Amino acid sequence: MEPKYKRVLLKISGEALAGENGTGIDGAMTKKVAEEIRQLVDLGVQTAVVVGGGNFWRGRTSTDMTRATGDYIGMLATVMNSLALQDALLTAGVRAKVQTALVIREVAEPYIWRKAMKELDDGDVVIFGGGIGEPHFSTDTAAALRAVDIGADMLLLAKNIDAVYSADPAVDPNAERYSHLCMKEVFDRGLKVMDLTAATICMENNMKIQVFGLAEENSLVRAVCGETIGTLIE
Ligand code: UDP
Repeated sequence: MEPKYKRVLLKISGEALAGENGTGIDGAMTKKVAEEIRQLVDLGVQTAVVVGGGNFWRGRTSTDMTRATGDYIGMLATVMNSLALQDALLTAGVRAKVQTALVIREVAEPYIWRKAMKELDDGDVVIFGGGIGEPHFSTDTAAALRAVDIGADMLLLAKNIDAVYSADPAVDPNAERYSHLCMKEVFDRGLKVMDLTAATICMENNMKIQVFGLAEENSLVRAVCGETIGTLIE
């Protein structure tokens, strides 16, 4: 298989690393994600990753504390996930670095754009932890921003659903499944692909997005080889 894209940014939610109950870090799940990423590296695709933190904490759902504190806890959760993924990648024989937007020198490098570019050029997987390091944002926004920063050819948005639909197909059996969309349609139809800040960054920077289900076999490789496996937004 020939990759169509040379450099990608993969966004996975925290739940992708969790076990069946959706919380914490599950070793087998993390290993599975690392194996999928290894396939991309083996194809020679430069791969950056942003991991969410929802398997531990989301700032917006912690109503009993100030929002900023809740959000910082969420950012720290993404660092925990990033370290777990790095460990699984290293165990799978893939060189992987973690760069964080919040400086935690003992466990990761700080985010330095030029260093990240060098590491990607060297074939390392670069995991961006800590979101963008600011409360009131999401890891979707971090993914959009970092994808633009590193000049990614595409943002791979792994979900626990296989594509973008007009409504939740689990609730509405008539929900329409989209294979292609443009960002304007995402806005006009109010489709829940990513939050508005992230969607705006993608639209303003012409960032292509491939939405797909991480559970699908070889989904990452198929996406970088140009197969439309879920919904392509461009
Ligand atoms: N977060 C933040 N700023 C960022 C990125 C994340 O404040 O730049 C916080 C926010 O509270 C968010 C939490 O970290 O709810 C976890 O991230 P997210 O909800 O995006 O994780 P996912 O849903 O992808 O697992």
